[in-house]
Amino acid sequence: MMLDNFIKKSCIDDIAAIADRVTDIVILSHKNPDGDALGSSLALYHYFKARGKRVKVVLPNLFPDFLSWLPAAGDVLVYEGNVESAREAILGAGAFFCLDFNTLSRIGDVGQCVSSLNVPKVLIDHHPFPSDEFSVAVSHPEACSTAELVYRVIVALSGTGAVSFDIAQCIYTGMMTDTGAFAYASARKDIYLIIAELLLKGIDKDLIYRKVFYNSSLSRMRLWGYVLYEKLEYFKKYNAALITLSHDELMRFYARKGDTEGLVNQPLQMKGVRFSCFFREELPGKINVSLRSVDDFPCNRVAAEFFNGGGHMNASGGELHCSMESAVEVFRNVLQKYRTELTE
Ligand code: 5GP
Ligand code: MN
Repeated sequence: MMLDNFIKKSCIDDIAAIADRVTDIVILSHKNPDGDALGSSLALYHYFKARGKRVKVVLPNLFPDFLSWLPAAGDVLVYEGNVESAREAILGAGAFFCLDFNTLSRIGDVGQCVSSLNVPKVLIDHHPFPSDEFSVAVSHPEACSTAELVYRVIVALSGTGAVSFDIAQCIYTGMMTDTGAFAYASARKDIYLIIAELLLKGIDKDLIYRKVFYNSSLSRMRLWGYVLYEKLEYFKKYNAALITLSHDELMRFYARKGDTEGLVNQPLQMKGVRFSCFFREELPGKINVSLRSVDDFPCNRVAAEFFNGGGHMNASGGELHCSMESAVEVFRNVLQKYRTELTE
């Protein structure tokens, strides 16, 4: 059985020409990098390294600890805290590969640094509505993850022989994390054809699952227990749920980066819940927003309209600069405005 070949040949030709021409490549991905952001970036990193390029992965801030085992995660340049060396890498780039985000404003100061440079910018991403800042755009919302697209690009450029064991591990991690271990956004047969290829490269899929998902500290287990017992609010009338965690609560449970990853999905396990919202007060007065839905409830519209954000229809995010009380007020307004969509 063959993969559906949906990436335009002209895009692959453009990328091939850029890759032939340049020696210094900088790969960029989004803030609060997840398994797909880091997995797809490192897969492409290993590919270009093998082609003899000088490659840097630059991320706006640090990835969670449960991803630090990914091959070459230690080579990533984190802009926050290393502004000078990250800027130096950016200024030396002959081309940028922008992975798992669809507009430069999603990568904060890094985006500002990059946008003024007259250097080719290649987008490889699966979020809808990409901006027009990119010279080449491999943009496919139908893909389960950016990692899937990076796999396809590598194979289109150099064949399956170019997919090393390290690349295979990175690709699998991206596909697995963006689909909740193949529980959603994962109904296309191609996903499993690609996984078969990755298994042939020697990946241990069960081990990767454990490395990513069975990596909790006791304090994370306690935090999740606390949230489910005391902090999960169910708005039955609206088929919706809300979780809030204040900065104080995060401190009290010694929450580390990544400890709340996936928490927003929990309420969707309740019968009837179609929409889940999680407010995490990262810093006093700065609230990170995560939204999840099932079926056709448009999280990304809600994120853009109420939370200065965006994303996919069923998984979006944003942020608010206000108190938790005001944020909860905003959530109530969302329920009011979308009550028809939530209850139909
Ligand atoms: P998460 O809830 O895991 O942080 O993010 C879920 C999805 O929403 C991801 O696809 C992510 O790229 C997108 N997302 C998260 N935060 C933002 C944001 O501030 N702006 C936009 N445009 N998308 C976001
Ligand atoms: Mn993704």
